[in-house]
Amino acid sequence: MEREFSAEERARASAYHRPLYLALLADVALGAGLLAALAWSSLGDWLFSPLTSLPPVAAAAAYAALVTVLSSVVRAPLACWRGWWREREWGFSTQTLGGWLGDRVKGLAVSVLLGAGAWAAAVALARAMPGWWALPAGAALALAVLLLSFVAPVLLEPLFNRFRPLDDETLAASLRRLSERAGVPVRDVLVADASRRTTKVNAYVSGIGRTRRVVLFDTLLRGADPAAVEVVVAHELGHRREGHVAKLTLLAMVGAAVAVLVLWAVLGTRIADPRTLPEALLLLLALELAALAPGAWLSRRFERAADRWSLELTEEPAAFARAHLELARRNLSDLEPPRPVYLLLFSHPTAPERLALGRAWVEART
Ligand SMILES: [Zn+2]
Repeated sequence: MEREFSAEERARASAYHRPLYLALLADVALGAGLLAALAWSSLGDWLFSPLTSLPPVAAAAAYAALVTVLSSVVRAPLACWRGWWREREWGFSTQTLGGWLGDRVKGLAVSVLLGAGAWAAAVALARAMPGWWALPAGAALALAVLLLSFVAPVLLEPLFNRFRPLDDETLAASLRRLSERAGVPVRDVLVADASRRTTKVNAYVSGIGRTRRVVLFDTLLRGADPAAVEVVVAHELGHRREGHVAKLTLLAMVGAAVAVLVLWAVLGTRIADPRTLPEALLLLLALELAALAPGAWLSRRFERAADRWSLELTEEPAAFARAHLELARRNLSDLEPPRPVYLLLFSHPTAPERLALGRAWVEART
């Protein structure tokens, strides 16, 4: 990696990322601390007290909404620092504070709706069938995950971004050819107006079945050379080709069902009491944390597979290298994350690792 990134670039990326890792840790601690206080101190009783006269299922929905809002408010200052203030300091955010808050309120509204619905359903099921509520609850949550994966691109993503078809005819035609070579004809290559928020560049695939799409940040199309854009799209087509969204959705469904079983094993029939919500959320948080390392490992595996596809499809290792250098520089990606951070959080290989993969691909062919 000495060849690609200067010592100064590596140090600058570290200086940007290290405080963010600490802030993330602090955020998890803050969230867990609040849940613990709600579960085992009088704070929980105080927050629940206005709801005691409601029927249990209605109280469950309302309590879930209250806990979600309270957690968001408590964590807001730190979230604002790392999500907006610091992003502006480093020249990435293009948002006003009002714009950032608007996003946060929209995200919170989605969380409140989903959380209140899920908790009300759990409490209702635990009351209706105390012995075996986990069975229908696990199945229902798995189905909800599937449904969310299907509707997210058409219902959730448009809450935060506008999408338009790629209007550059030449580029669109070459991307279509690429998708035919990949054997995954694309229904849609869309451009998201990410520049309303950030100067960072990215692309992703989302949706399943009829809602499948490849999405490019408009920031990616500014400046990057067309060959590099092709590399990025070929990578996303690699994800499509390998069915990564579907596989991850399936895994999330299994994970959701397992999580319900753990809740059932630990909390049993106590779920019928809406006040056990903080305990349930703490358990879910613990499961999430336990799933971080295996999840990141699997994701990095998928990313390497998609990178190999992008090389196979474009056969332009030089453009591959240019694209990843450009992505890493424009996003100020961490080039040498601390090992625990890499193992727990890195859903993608580092830029030096991806460049090495490109070199290995060339060597394997010669
Ligand atoms: Zn990827």
